[in-house]
Amino acid sequence: MVINWIGRTFGFPEGFAGNLTSGGSASTILALATARDSKNVKAVDFSRCVVYMTQISHYCVEKALNTIGMREAVRRTVPTDKSTYKMNAEELKIIIEKDKNNDLIPFLVYATAGTTDLGSIDPLNEIASIARQHSLWMHVDACYGGFFIMSNEAKPSFRGIERCDSLAVDPHKSLFIPYGCGCVIVRQGSKLKYSNALNRPAPYAQDSFKDEREDEPSPCHLSFELSRHFRGVRVWMPLKLFGLAPFRDALTEKILLARYFYEQLAERDDFQLGPYPELSVVVFRYAKAPNDTEKFNEQLLDSLMRDGRVALASTRLRGVYYLRVCILCFRTHLKEVDLLLEMVDKNVEIYLKSVSKKPRESQQLS
Ligand SMILES: *Cc1c(COP(=O)(O)O)cnc(C)c1O
Repeated sequence: MVINWIGRTFGFPEGFAGNLTSGGSASTILALATARDSKNVKAVDFSRCVVYMTQISHYCVEKALNTIGMREAVRRTVPTDKSTYKMNAEELKIIIEKDKNNDLIPFLVYATAGTTDLGSIDPLNEIASIARQHSLWMHVDACYGGFFIMSNEAKPSFRGIERCDSLAVDPHKSLFIPYGCGCVIVRQGSKLKYSNALNRPAPYAQDSFKDEREDEPSPCHLSFELSRHFRGVRVWMPLKLFGLAPFRDALTEKILLARYFYEQLAERDDFQLGPYPELSVVVFRYAKAPNDTEKFNEQLLDSLMRDGRVALASTRLRGVYYLRVCILCFRTHLKEVDLLLEMVDKNVEIYLKSVSKKPRESQQLS
């Protein structure tokens, strides 16, 4: 029921299948192995297979390629839009055509619906058209951002997601479920089964599958896992208890909080900001440090984390250091975002005082 609900939420037509996994990385391994088997590429061709991604694709794609034996596959970093960091579909098309002419095998395009760095969503519908035209497998990494599709604020950005071949989405991220619950959906479910089911189960297991229905295969025929956690109930129970509305509202709240945080910082003209948040990630840096800007921002993060009341991270955009806020806890509300703003202001104030003092100190010394 959980898998069917997730598949329908993303608009997949009848016939999809899925599996509840330990998380996004495991889902990606399943999806990419299914792509490999469905495209019928063999080991001798792996070094000619090309995977298309962007500079901010999640590194679980690298790990998955290694795990499924495709370490040698060619990686192409498709250029992104200058300000939004989204995959440039036009460039994708050009690179694929070039690769085809060079006797390579365009194999898989790795699109992201909610990048970890920025929460940006690649142009899924355009990418889907290109993937179809060139017979590429299209995988969408919606691990972080997928369930934002439930919020009307974000839904339009997901247009075309239902055309992908496989999707990884983590209930343990944007559905607020405890860690250890991911999900993979494959548009043509028979392909997931083809990649994972054995024709002959072990003799000792012959009784287990006697009553298996064609339309409802055992989860162990749709994954490399056999014995497993009962993940379904972790998702099913909260949805049943609370219904969908509170989840939808909480997701909309996170988007609005991210926009609020962005706008508040934009009013202070001494901050440099990343793109306007499409989902719930904002990256920013204090840009007016008289001395070493990067060092100041590193210290700012360190100081915020030491305080312990907020948790942020950092990232780099085209080499430049930024602090990164991802608002994705159901307990984070306006009060916490205001607290963060207050803490940032306080740190900047202390810093400015300390640098304005320094010249005087040195004068005294001399
Ligand atoms: C977190 C994340 C992953 C990896 O998921 P895990 O559940 O941590 O394995 C993959 N892609 C994106 C975009 C993510 O944010």
